[in-house]
Amino acid sequence: MIIFKSINKLNKEVNFKAKVGFVPTMGSLHKGHISLIKSSRKKCQKTLVSIFVNPSQFNNKNDYKNYPRNLKKDINLLRKLKVDYLLIPKSEDIYKNKNKMKIKISKTDKIMCAIYRPGHFEGVLAVINQFLIRLKPKYIFFGKKDYQQLYLVRKYIGKKFKTKVVPCSTIRDKNMVALSSRNSFLNSEDIKKSSILAKKIIKFKKKIIKNIMLRKNTKNIIFQLNKLKNIKIEYLEVRNEKNLSKKITNKNFKIFVAYYNKNVRIIDNF
Ligand code: AMP
Repeated sequence: MIIFKSINKLNKEVNFKAKVGFVPTMGSLHKGHISLIKSSRKKCQKTLVSIFVNPSQFNNKNDYKNYPRNLKKDINLLRKLKVDYLLIPKSEDIYKNKNKMKIKISKTDKIMCAIYRPGHFEGVLAVINQFLIRLKPKYIFFGKKDYQQLYLVRKYIGKKFKTKVVPCSTIRDKNMVALSSRNSFLNSEDIKKSSILAKKIIKFKKKIIKNIMLRKNTKNIIFQLNKLKNIKIEYLEVRNEKNLSKKITNKNFKIFVAYYNKNVRIIDNF
């Protein structure tokens, strides 16, 4: 694995005419990231992973400061996975570019996390935009775990570049909790709460599939979930999986949730 600390150096060394798959991450890698990397290894000749804790997507300085970082462990894991290239850029490298177009999210897309984390998606889109202006991978891999992110990347970025966006399934542990770097802040008791929450939402989903009218029961579900100790629901919404509108049938919806488990903010969708 070749490690690059600058995009220019990477561009000099890597032949993007080969089928290169790109997996952007913020590090603290887990099985969710690994599944993206494995998809890329399967589909592409070369796999490029980036680790960059992107300051512009954090709407809270402490959250940025405390975000888990495990660079040494990550590098060892990526070597074992036979990743070809690792990019660990500096902030200045990403944001020095004059091409610093700020992406504005439309009013209709100001929903869910776009409301509760102002500026977050603008930051995500800015960094992906910078990467794709300067790197030319054939494919870029994103997890459905961050579904709204995937949706917005496809909508705002996907069309500007030749790079194809590849969505990858959410990886969960056996208790149905989606893997997340932030889970490292939770102990086993906390994880149990997240597991109960996930299972309750999955049950709710099955009920809606049987009886679409039950989609209106979110308030009741939120009330039930908030009874779990240390759980505070930020939002729980039933939305169309194609366009994220509230118009759904029993075949095309997902349930989106953001909640605090103690002081850790978790998002998921089912
Ligand atoms: P992050 O490091 O959190 O920015 O995530 C990097 C990529 O991994 C994003 O495309 C995420 O959607 C994806 N990802 C994170 N957790 C999971 C998971 N549990 N299953 C699948 N993909 C995931």
